Amino acid sequence: MATARVLIIEDEAHIVEVLTWYLREADWEVFTASDGESGLALARLEEPDAIILDLMLPGLDGLEVCRRLRQESRVPILVLTARDGETDKIQGLEAGADDYVTKPFSSREVVARVKALLRRARYTEPLTRNVLSFPGLEIDRAAYTVSVAGRPARLTPMEFQVLALLASQPGRAFSRDEIITRVSGVEYIDARTVDVHIRHLRAKIEPDPSRPRYLHTVWGVGYKFEVVG
Ligand code: CA
Repeated sequence: MATARVLIIEDEAHIVEVLTWYLREADWEVFTASDGESGLALARLEEPDAIILDLMLPGLDGLEVCRRLRQESRVPILVLTARDGETDKIQGLEAGADDYVTKPFSSREVVARVKALLRRARYTEPLTRNVLSFPGLEIDRAAYTVSVAGRPARLTPMEFQVLALLASQPGRAFSRDEIITRVSGVEYIDARTVDVHIRHLRAKIEPDPSRPRYLHTVWGVGYKFEVVG
């Protein structure tokens, strides 16, 4: 399994420490936040593959964090509940959590549960994330359609592949070589044709192709998708 990126939102330092140790043992990248607000901010910034969220947090409580995360993303969330009561678990699940573990817990169990959530997320992702929506732009990866400000854009299959690839990870720079590798199989392209496809894409989807809103040049690297303004 590729290395997963996990965010832990928990204020109790020893729990964070132990979970971090076990997750790193499993070769995962770990980010931590000790309160709800910074947890939400870090989730938006790092877009982790899974989140371990304690329900008892200072400030913004875990349930509210869970609700807000769920409004923005389908990231798998495992909640940690302090009490053995049913209420916490039910509230957590109703707030959008995928699973829960009651404290005190075994760290191995937490790791196993997060792994299970990741497996499930991977299987369901193609079904749930067919449509990539951005302000003024929608890309439907099942129907192979793109709409700009609500109107269909006519892209060639190759243009579609390039756009869908870049937009699948907003903010990440792709080199021309990587773009070529990832979209190969559709037709042969070289580095210069990548530039041509980007130019055509900009003409078709950008409100002002000379000042791109979506498709940005990363000097010395290649291109990235990011919504500006
Ligand atoms: Ca706590």
